Amino acid sequence: MIAKTEAIVLRVSPFSTTSHMVTWLTPDYGRLTTVVKGAMRPKSAFLGQYDLCYTCELLFYERERDGVHMARECSPLNTRLPLRRQWRHYTCAAYICDLALHATLPGRDHTEELYELLGATLDRLCAGRSSPEVLVHWFELRLLQLLGYAPHVERCLVCRKGLSAERAVFDAAKGGALCLDCLPHPVPEHVVPLGPDTQSLLRQWSGGHALSLLRNTVVSGKQLLALQRLTGTMLTYCLEMRLECRNVAMATLRCERGEL
Ligand SMILES: [Zn+2]
Repeated sequence: MIAKTEAIVLRVSPFSTTSHMVTWLTPDYGRLTTVVKGAMRPKSAFLGQYDLCYTCELLFYERERDGVHMARECSPLNTRLPLRRQWRHYTCAAYICDLALHATLPGRDHTEELYELLGATLDRLCAGRSSPEVLVHWFELRLLQLLGYAPHVERCLVCRKGLSAERAVFDAAKGGALCLDCLPHPVPEHVVPLGPDTQSLLRQWSGGHALSLLRNTVVSGKQLLALQRLTGTMLTYCLEMRLECRNVAMATLRCERGEL
């Protein structure tokens, strides 16, 4: 049976000397993988039709047995070409595609929302007007939220004391903040500092899901580092993610800023 869907390219890898294996995120079929036969032949109809971060219209033959389908036709709907001229933004775009790939299983859970989130974040990176690091951490938090791991920072998870303007910590295993009186000893590695400025940023972001919220957000270098540590710890403890691709992306950005 032939199926048709929009799809964002999450990964392209060689399948044979002339064919590709492509993993896509789709709003209708979830994450799916197709073989693209003859993709690397000089006269292939697929040449230039897909690449990492493209949104495409994809026609494929559905196969139930092994979960790997066969691509029939593909044409780009949004190539996001400006990303190719902004390597910092492209590095972050490649990372969030990798994150979407590893945070999902083949199937349809949450995929419509995740598809919209990924497409909108890639578009924002492509526009080049926002800090790529801020967009990455926004995406990570929204992804965690979609998968049921929204961070709770209004009050201490143990004693229920309100935390506004107090120094606190974030316990990634528990998914929320703890006041310093309830800090466990010794401090486990999944507990990270959570200053008042980062708490207020998280509260501001939890008030709405639209990327337009970022327009009015100023994120300091200190907040960015705190966010990076918090989301990294959550990805490790909530989703059991390996962070190699993230570490490479972040190290590349730090290197470019002359911090390495
Ligand atoms: Zn407490």
